[in-house]
Amino acid sequence: MDMSNNSDFLSQQLMWIMIYLGITLTISFIVPFPYSLPIIIGVVIILSFFVRRRMTARMGGSGTSMFRSSGSRGLVRYYCMACGAKHNEIACPKCGSKMKRIG
Ligand SMILES: [Zn+2]
Repeated sequence: MDMSNNSDFLSQQLMWIMIYLGITLTISFIVPFPYSLPIIIGVVIILSFFVRRRMTARMGGSGTSMFRSSGSRGLVRYYCMACGAKHNEIACPKCGSKMKRIG
């Protein structure tokens, strides 16, 4: 992992934290407190879904396919028994082995 990419990721995280804060403040100004809470939670969930999708898309093809399969199979992680690679595919993307263990 190179440093420039890493700091880009961090500034992206910071940008989203600022966006979350802005949205939270705006909603709590417009809507009175007990009613603003579910709206804020809903907006944060929807936003984090889009952020996660953007980030997995940035990681390339394997990231998006991992996101797709983790969406349908839950958060169980599989490790290849042949080479130890973590993947959620039917066959290992590294060595093609179908032997895997849950970890
Ligand atoms: Zn493998």
